[in-house]
Amino acid sequence: MTDALDLGRLGFETRAIHGGGGPDPQTGAVTTPIHLSSTFKQDAVGEHRGFEYARTGNPTRASLETNLALLEGAAHGFAFASGSAAEDAVLRLLGPGDHLVLPTDAYGGTHRLATRVHQPAGLAVDTSDLGSATDLQEALTPATRMVWVETPTNPLLRVIDITAIAEATHRAGALLVVDNTFASPWLQQPLRFGADIVVHSTTKYLGGHSDVVGGFAATNDSGLAARLAFLQNAVGAVPGPLDCYLVQRGLKTLALRMERHCTSALAVVDLLRAHQAVRTVLHPSLPGHSGHEVAQRQMRGYGGIVSFTLRGGEAAALEVCRRTRLFTLAESLGAVESLIEHPARMTHASVAGSTNEVPSDLVRLSVGLETLDDLLWDLTQALDGLA
Ligand SMILES: *Cc1c(COP(=O)(O)O)cnc(C)c1O
Repeated sequence: MTDALDLGRLGFETRAIHGGGGPDPQTGAVTTPIHLSSTFKQDAVGEHRGFEYARTGNPTRASLETNLALLEGAAHGFAFASGSAAEDAVLRLLGPGDHLVLPTDAYGGTHRLATRVHQPAGLAVDTSDLGSATDLQEALTPATRMVWVETPTNPLLRVIDITAIAEATHRAGALLVVDNTFASPWLQQPLRFGADIVVHSTTKYLGGHSDVVGGFAATNDSGLAARLAFLQNAVGAVPGPLDCYLVQRGLKTLALRMERHCTSALAVVDLLRAHQAVRTVLHPSLPGHSGHEVAQRQMRGYGGIVSFTLRGGEAAALEVCRRTRLFTLAESLGAVESLIEHPARMTHASVAGSTNEVPSDLVRLSVGLETLDDLLWDLTQALDGLA
């Protein structure tokens, strides 16, 4: 039985595969059963077996929460109906008059949630480059309670030094939240570098197969965990049991998938750098990339997302998005299928005109798991002959 194992001491892949609680004690089923029941029998009034009502807790969800928390090195994990719902729960830890610092190139939906949902309710929100602890110093106010970081950032792939930002954030008496969606816990575990809360869109690498929308938040602080558990239950933005099952199934192959995403992305970077239609390539693997050294220290690999700009400007960027055959034109990232998108008009359209606006000649790739030669062929045929 795996509950006799000290899973925290075992390797990442072992925790991914065995971290959900092990075979079902009643049936021996080796995968977590999908418990659809919305309510649970009590043995006597107030005497239950850990589950009462499925918004508050469900065994399939609990298995995923334990499993994913183990991968983040967290004592407490909470699954949500989407990454946005997880972020909303974390932002609800703040109240009117509190101040939040967001990175300038935060995920567009995070910026929208903070400025258009929480700011009207009294939260003060500022954006900062957050490239260094000095940038953060300038953004802090006496009311700053939370600093939000994404690394690598979307879609510019800047790398933030989590240790340095955590120290500066804690000196200011605030909490550091890291959105770890782009890296996944296989590449980096932010709580180990001093973050207080890690959040995910499990829709991306964790689910990994473009078939589920989900979110997750984890922490080692039991006070924060109690408040997140309260919000998860009170607000009720919880995932259904089938969604939990799909995310958990994704975890089991996360390490293998991430390895391939990372190696294929390196080959894509080489191809793009050598192509005359491409102006700049953004990827933390490049020695000239501003975040290269931090990435070497902080990450196990450089990730599967690659962004680039085109010599032909916006028209050429739109044309590449039209021409690829295997890279599917779609929002989202982190799944087996390779995707291409134009952030300025797609994922980041909602931040046009704000400090989070992204360049219009930028294209973002999520390098998938297809045969590498086929991906390289597809990009070559899409780029060849562009002005
Ligand atoms: C997709 C994404 C989110 C939002 O998650 P949803 O599951 O779409 O709600 C948040 N942060 C990042 C970095 C993302 O890529």
